[in-house]
Amino acid sequence: MKKLALHWQILIGMLLGVIFGFIMASVNGQDFVMKWVDPFGKIFVKLLKLIAVPLILASLIKGISDLKDISKFKNMGLRTIVLYIITTVIAITIGLGLVNTLKPGKGITKETVSMLKDKYSTSDQAQTILINAKQQKEAGPLQFLVDMVPDNAIYAMGNNKFMLQVIVFAILLGLCLLLVPEEKAKPLKDFFDSLNEVVLKMVDIIMLFAPYAVFALLASVVVSADDPDILLALLKYAGVVVLGLFLMICFYMILISVYAKKSPFWFINRISPAQLLAFSTSSSAAALPVTMERVEEHVGVDKEVTSFVLPVGATINMDGTSLYQGVAAVFIMQVLWPEGLVFSNQLMIILTALLASIGSAAVPGAGMVMLVIVLEAIGFPSDLLPIALALIFAVDRPLDMCRTTVNVTGDATVSTVIAKSLGKLGEPHIKNWDDNYPVK
Ligand code: ASP
Repeated sequence: MKKLALHWQILIGMLLGVIFGFIMASVNGQDFVMKWVDPFGKIFVKLLKLIAVPLILASLIKGISDLKDISKFKNMGLRTIVLYIITTVIAITIGLGLVNTLKPGKGITKETVSMLKDKYSTSDQAQTILINAKQQKEAGPLQFLVDMVPDNAIYAMGNNKFMLQVIVFAILLGLCLLLVPEEKAKPLKDFFDSLNEVVLKMVDIIMLFAPYAVFALLASVVVSADDPDILLALLKYAGVVVLGLFLMICFYMILISVYAKKSPFWFINRISPAQLLAFSTSSSAAALPVTMERVEEHVGVDKEVTSFVLPVGATINMDGTSLYQGVAAVFIMQVLWPEGLVFSNQLMIILTALLASIGSAAVPGAGMVMLVIVLEAIGFPSDLLPIALALIFAVDRPLDMCRTTVNVTGDATVSTVIAKSLGKLGEPHIKNWDDNYPVK
């Protein structure tokens, strides 16, 4: 007998979680959900994050040290960066095109603005976002390059925030393994090879809990959602973001079908557990181990490509986030600062949202912090910033779930396209314990 495919199990878990959340919200059971259900979702997210650093380290070092020469790495690195930039610019352009044509800001009345302002502009969350954004802004334009280089490898590995530093260290180590005589490199290569295999097995084990964990995650999202009146007022704005994200997914599917010559439905089917986790956790970093496993084993992209393209993508390529930033910035201007809606500002949004998506951390809510920087770059009046955030706060979590799904899909698509261009897209090799494993 075949077990139900993993993505169906996860989908059922999500659906039941939403239903349970609504039932509990209607009987005032929010407290129960947050105390007794939510912790299981948190444990799952922690477990996924737990394996991110060892997985990146092992698979990147193994991937690079398997390359036959360094020029191949240069080639792949260049293609990755260029494609990531192109897809991000396309995403922002789609977002700006939609928000300027559909004008979601037009429907927002003065009463709605003041209701949102009263509820959110002085909230702790809004203040934290503004403080975080200020810290980010005070750093110089090249600070992100400085931040990428670790001064202590062990320290970098000790904090998921320093994922890019771990990547830099792993690339350096992998490249040096190529440069030393083979017999010297072999023990270390074998070690990382073995570590990689073991960590991938950990992904399998953790994923056995995924259907239950998404139940917990979605139930807690539902019970902590805002009241329906507020959500309704922002429906048009949220609709524009979701429409843009949907168009972005269509764009990826075209790339997959035209360039990688694979069926888009087959592709989505293969990577869907990673997408569903991105949706449930709102964190590309948490979904990363699963994305790597799915793209490598289920799509058939060579490890040389996934090990580099996916971790780098999770940290710097956020198409969904940048599309959202474009829409949110213009929506806010439509409501609060119509005189700022000039062409030069829209160009500036493309540039800053591109940089902001590179700088956004792959964690829930990061896109909103960087949105403040986008707004400041176009000269948005700073006294209106708390009101600007208040305007979009209520729907940020559901939109975060959707944009994170697009972020992860974008990374998976780009890695498949790059693999195809380098002749590294082979046949899937699904291992034991994975999806569809037979039950005795
Ligand atoms: N949550 C997003 C991610 O992890 C980032 C964001 O848009 O807030 O990809």
